[in-house]
Amino acid sequence: MPELPEVEVVARGLRARVLGHTVRGAQLRASALRWPLPADLSGVLAGRRVERIDRRGKYLLLHFGHGTLIVHLGMSGSLRFLERWEPPQRHDHVDIGFGHGWLRLHDPRRFGALLWHDAAQGPVAAHPLLARLGVEPLEGGFDGGLLHRGCRGRRVAIKQLLLAGQVVVGVGNIYASESLFRAGIRPTTRAARLSAARCEALAQAIRATLALAIERGGSTLRDFTGADGQSGYFQLECLVYGRQGEPCRRCGAPIRMAHHQQRATYWCPGCQR
Ligand SMILES: [Zn+2]
Repeated sequence: MPELPEVEVVARGLRARVLGHTVRGAQLRASALRWPLPADLSGVLAGRRVERIDRRGKYLLLHFGHGTLIVHLGMSGSLRFLERWEPPQRHDHVDIGFGHGWLRLHDPRRFGALLWHDAAQGPVAAHPLLARLGVEPLEGGFDGGLLHRGCRGRRVAIKQLLLAGQVVVGVGNIYASESLFRAGIRPTTRAARLSAARCEALAQAIRATLALAIERGGSTLRDFTGADGQSGYFQLECLVYGRQGEPCRRCGAPIRMAHHQQRATYWCPGCQR
């Protein structure tokens, strides 16, 4: 599943490829992904210029003068920019044509989304999918103080709280596990029990882990063509994630794994308290 760093890398790739360009038309080869696709996408976008591209959580926002295209890559989605036409393959559900190429959305499992938010409906930030998202971990509003306030009175495990996305957005399973290791915090620790100092360490670890993944992902995706939204994972040399039974890179103790809420959680029993 693409996580925040992968989506950020895709957003940067999109800026390099389609920002400032005008859509010529669009073609849909499916009627729905997770939700129905905008039936008249071509009519909505043709002749309109991509004015800004943002990422909010794991949503990509392509802003046009008259509204915003909201894209989510779901479990298996990817966006590619084709400079030369290629016949669509199975699961290539949407093409958006520009003068210099095509943006193609591929999504075998169809958990992704592509929605049109018309400017007449109000600011896109108020869209039901976006309005309740937590703060962005890489922006100024996120720090140990905010995390500590978000943990106050919460009996859930800190990893659960991170994954829920209401305090901080876009920290998925891999990066939650990695960040908790860096901060020396056991994933099952109740959020409310974390001190301000430990929350500060965790906030710093989250920022560092995400920034490193984006840097690795960005450096390997110099050419956006072929970016599949998953490449970034393999660039991050994980400290605990996926390393069950292997020695901790810090203390040598075997990394442990357990399933919490159906998600695999990895931690070092020596380094994480
Ligand atoms: Zn260790």
